[in-house]
Amino acid sequence: PFHKSKGQHILKNPLLIDSIIQKSGIKPTDVILEIGPGTGNLTKKLLEVGKSVIAVELDPRMVLELQRRFQGTPSSTRLKVIQGDVLKCDLPYFDICVANIPYQISSPLTFKLLSHRPLFRCAVIMFQREFAMRLVAQPGDNLYCRLSVNTQLLARVNHNDFHPSLLIRPPPKVDSSVVRIEPRKPLPAVNFKEWDGLVRICFNRKNKTLGSIFRQKSVLSVLEKNYKTLQALQLSQEGLSDSSEMAMCVTALGDTLGDFSMDTDEGRDDEDMEMDDGDTKASDFKERVLGVLKQGGFEERRSSKLAQADFMHLLSLFNKAGIHFS
Ligand code: SAM
Repeated sequence: PFHKSKGQHILKNPLLIDSIIQKSGIKPTDVILEIGPGTGNLTKKLLEVGKSVIAVELDPRMVLELQRRFQGTPSSTRLKVIQGDVLKCDLPYFDICVANIPYQISSPLTFKLLSHRPLFRCAVIMFQREFAMRLVAQPGDNLYCRLSVNTQLLARVNHNDFHPSLLIRPPPKVDSSVVRIEPRKPLPAVNFKEWDGLVRICFNRKNKTLGSIFRQKSVLSVLEKNYKTLQALQLSQEGLSDSSEMAMCVTALGDTLGDFSMDTDEGRDDEDMEMDDGDTKASDFKERVLGVLKQGGFEERRSSKLAQADFMHLLSLFNKAGIHFS
């Protein structure tokens, strides 16, 4: 009856369901968003502890089964089922999100939630173990990547080091981990497109020094294009960080940040040539960029070891020098 291809792994074990419920810290006043309720084993528990549940389910057969299961029960009035793709629908207000999701939607869903307003209190989501490890990875960890840096900019994350795969039927081929995501309130005052633009470049070759990354012709030419466009538009750095611009960037967050491939860091050839110094104008700009790195002591550092505060510092130095990433 279940389709593994649709990521339909059903939670049967009450211990696992209880541990998810416990980790959520649901209050009796909470409106809960559940994504991918399936046959409703988790939904049933959520209805017992929260005020109401809004469940978004893609598969119409599951929606029918869910409605049949709760029809005529006292909790049925507190359950609203929405049939559709969670990535495509407008999310309603919710206090807390709980989900055992199909792994394919992990990254876009995470950033869809983090760009939802008003911000929710927390999300407790079962992810593929490797994805979970990437979300929580710290500078110096093997799995530290753009996904870690961007998520941790916007939220506090922690996970249960726990392997529920033995408890799920049919057993998934990969291990899972339950992650708790708490949006930071207030969100840090950075322009997110700028932030992601910088982080994307830095993690393209995360084990190279920043000095060598920012000497690449492709990187320099993109930055120089931005630089010239901004100068032509006479956009000052104050203009870029004002509040209306910030608001726009936050809204666009779901679109720009949802596209993480699981791994963009490894196995890439160095097809890029370093910038040729022959061209004086280009080399002026190169000196400007390298000057910023030197000024902050970043030339010999590597993204794999940079903390959030380092990226924040580096971005502000670049922006002060008129160098922008979006
Ligand atoms: N929550 C149930 C449980 O724990 O037993 C089922 C979890 S199962 C891993 C994932 C569920 O998400 C399936 O019921 C599947 O039909 C549904 N689903 C898959 N893609 C979805 C999407 N894009 N939007 C909403 N639901 C989706």
